[in-house]
Amino acid sequence: MKTKLLSLKTEAISLLQSRGVSLDEIVDCVYFLQQEYHQNLDKKILMESVLSVLDKREVQFALMTAIELDIMTEKKRFENKNLEAVIARDEGLFGTDEVLAYGICNLYGSIALTNFGFIDKQKFGVVARLNEEGKKGIKCHTFLDDMVGAIAAAAASRFAHSL
Ligand code: MG
Repeated sequence: MKTKLLSLKTEAISLLQSRGVSLDEIVDCVYFLQQEYHQNLDKKILMESVLSVLDKREVQFALMTAIELDIMTEKKRFENKNLEAVIARDEGLFGTDEVLAYGICNLYGSIALTNFGFIDKQKFGVVARLNEEGKKGIKCHTFLDDMVGAIAAAAASRFAHSL
């Protein structure tokens, strides 16, 4: 059982990396969210929070689902072509990408939700890069940008509650 859990976490992390997202970039987002509340923030401790969020089964599966949907959109493998086009265009009113992300935030309380809303609006760092790549049509990151924002927001909330 333990090995199964560990391997899902490893799979989730390598999926993130295969889509161009490093854990350090997620830590940078957590730093961005928490910097004004703490002096001498240690990125190593923030990394522990990110890794702890990625320990959760719900997070691993949400991330896998998100990345799978992005890849299926890139490969044009949807049965429903209208839906595929909506996801490929990252339409503002689609909203299901954010709903999947709330699933992660809800595990970490209201601070995670407000942090997610903030980073989604501010588009800091890797979230901005994913968004730009998506808008240029190089890749589909419609789901992944929200996943990264939600993982960072959840890690920031976990960190805030730990103090
Ligand atoms: Mg999105």
